[in-house]
Amino acid sequence: MRILVSGASIAGPVLAYWLVRNGHEVTVVERSPVLRKTGGHAVDLFKPAMDISERMGVLPRIEALATGTTRLTYLREGTRKPISADVTKLFAAASDRHVEVMRDDLSEIYYDATRADVEYVFGDSITSIGDEVTFEAGAPRRFDLVIGADGLHSNVRRLVFGEVGKAFVGAYLAVLSVPKNLGVPGEMAGHIGPGRTAAAYGARHLDDARAVFLFRSPELSYHHRDVARQKQLLRQAFAGLHHEVDSWLEHLDGDGAFYFDSITQLRGDTWSRGRVALVGDAAYCPGPAIGGSTSLAVLGAYVLAGELSTGSDHPAAFARYEDAMREVVHASRAFALGTAKTLIPSTRLGVSALVRGAQLLTSLPSWLIRPLAKLNSKGVRMHDSMRVKDYGRQGAATATP
Ligand SMILES: Cc1cc2nc3c(=O)[nH]c(=O)nc-3n(C[C@H](O)[C@H](O)[C@H](O)COP(=O)(O)OP(=O)(O)OC[C@H]3O[C@@H](n4cnc5c(N)ncnc54)[C@H](O)[C@@H]3O)c2cc1C
Repeated sequence: MRILVSGASIAGPVLAYWLVRNGHEVTVVERSPVLRKTGGHAVDLFKPAMDISERMGVLPRIEALATGTTRLTYLREGTRKPISADVTKLFAAASDRHVEVMRDDLSEIYYDATRADVEYVFGDSITSIGDEVTFEAGAPRRFDLVIGADGLHSNVRRLVFGEVGKAFVGAYLAVLSVPKNLGVPGEMAGHIGPGRTAAAYGARHLDDARAVFLFRSPELSYHHRDVARQKQLLRQAFAGLHHEVDSWLEHLDGDGAFYFDSITQLRGDTWSRGRVALVGDAAYCPGPAIGGSTSLAVLGAYVLAGELSTGSDHPAAFARYEDAMREVVHASRAFALGTAKTLIPSTRLGVSALVRGAQLLTSLPSWLIRPLAKLNSKGVRMHDSMRVKDYGRQGAATATP
């Protein structure tokens, strides 16, 4: 089949990889004029996404670019003594296999794995989907299927599904590029107060460091492409937390990479209509930064391609894809709501409990943390409970030991 995918970030290239392996002809259209390496934060790949990346043969490169963060050090607002925690123990408890990698690096790795076999069209966007697909810039073309992998604000979803159920989680995420000397490789060091937290970190291979900001707020009024307004809102939200945070925010005046989004969950349970389907954040974003959306996007792309490879017609394949993903999507939504509450406590008491809890947990020996975490597969180990189905030819073709 000739398949058009909208979006070249995580879900788009992973989907394209598996579709091509199954003999489909794939075009990916991306609105950005080049692959977006625009300052995303570190994202987590949990076991299922690691297994899929291994089958794609890209795991060694991902692991080589891991951020290598091992320590969290936080200063509570109004206190003088920072508290540290060993983050490797937390992740070892959460997943049997995990890597933290910059979103931009991950996107580039998946893109590199596909660009020889996939037609990538940058700097364009779909304007309508009928017998023909029309574009802002390119000439109309015909495709058998169209897949939206174009993120939380998906264009394909808007064109085909209109308004879908969304739930604003009550918080925002921003990531800012800051000079390399402001972040320490291997450590995320920051400040936390009621309803807001900010930290900076580096990684050996990066030319810069990143400052990441999470804050609670009622829904703010801004357009998702109005960067100047987003920067203004970020400054307001972090005023007075700590002079070190102010020094990071000074870099908002430059033109360094910047990412800002609301932590919003999509609540729809149907991700296909006719010959169009959605994958990744476009379909079931559980909320950036809090719900394992990257792992979910990788798994969803693999499952969608796998179901389309079974030889049956696409409506049946889409229905099986939806059935396969529903449970894990619901679990991710619940996980994300819990994480938002825990990571951004709204009271001083909540802040103390979080910081002391992390410190206490990581002071326990690993042999004790891991079995404790395993008692609850729907909680911290939710991601590892996602099953990676073997699609026969698809899996076997590329399986790595
Ligand atoms: C620049 C950027 C930075 C990010 N930083 C973080 C972060 O720091 N922390 C975090 O948790 N998550 C971040 N995310 C989101 C994270 O990548 C996703 O949650 C997750 O990896 C799922 O990926 P996805 O491919 O489904 O969606 P996304 O990663 O959101 O990718 C969607 C892609 O579609 C493209 N697109 C959008 N509209 C159109 C259109 N009309 N036509 C064609 N293409 C279009 C976008 O440019 C993008 O490349 C970021 C996303 C982007 C795009």
